[in-house]
Amino acid sequence: MIKYALQCKNCKQEFESWFGSSKEFDRLKKMKLLNCQNCNSINIEKSLMAPNLSNAKKIKLDENYNRFKEVKKKLKEYNKFVKQNFDFVGENFVYEARSIHYNKNNKKSKKGIYGKASLQDVKELKDEGIETEMIPWIDDKEN
Ligand SMILES: [Zn+2]
Repeated sequence: MIKYALQCKNCKQEFESWFGSSKEFDRLKKMKLLNCQNCNSINIEKSLMAPNLSNAKKIKLDENYNRFKEVKKKLKEYNKFVKQNFDFVGENFVYEARSIHYNKNNKKSKKGIYGKASLQDVKELKDEGIETEMIPWIDDKEN
């Protein structure tokens, strides 16, 4: 069942009506079985008001969006934590990670590092026994 908001083009009266489907609306209109409750005109059109069906869909989309925003917020907090507690080494990540791993006296080893690495890089570091964790990164500019 689908509810449509209808408007009479003759007297501008608006009313709602239930239909089995959107096709049923078209069929009834074609057969001139739709008439205005006010002036009996058959000049009836669907008004711009959204039917209930798409409202339900919209609410679901909003829910998903809110959940996404929540996850995004948590990620941002995590990213902030990393930013405050780790040194950013950018493209040099693989080099720096190795230098920390193989040179225990490296002054940077007191603090963790973060930066950019490809999946292949991460795999290689792991093979060498270098602890690497991949974290999703939220770009601040995305807002
Ligand atoms: Zn009317």
